[in-house]
Amino acid sequence: MDNATLTELRERLLSLKQEITIRIKENAEKVNNIQIKGDEGDFSNAVYSREILYDLIEKDRSHLKDIEEALYNIERGTYGKCHRCGKEIEIERMKAKPTAKYCIKCRAIVESGR
Ligand SMILES: [Zn+2]
Repeated sequence: MDNATLTELRERLLSLKQEITIRIKENAEKVNNIQIKGDEGDFSNAVYSREILYDLIEKDRSHLKDIEEALYNIERGTYGKCHRCGKEIEIERMKAKPTAKYCIKCRAIVESGR
């Protein structure tokens, strides 16, 4: 991967990280602000909203973990290499998904193994 692309992807990862960190904080605050009281209808609505927020937070946290891993790999100089076969991941794929861990071929194998 050339330096310009690496710098570009690193910038994108950093701003994504910031964005997600803020969103997690906001959603966590929303969870705290949901009042679980009132009649049965209000109660289930509140529980439902909380479930949705927990879900969002969970997804964001796992995304954040991927971003941190990618940034760590940039530091180590292993960024952009497939975690399975060790070859360079297609540059177009990295641009579309800067946290990609597998090349297209390995991704298909990993996913079919689930
Ligand atoms: Zn691979």
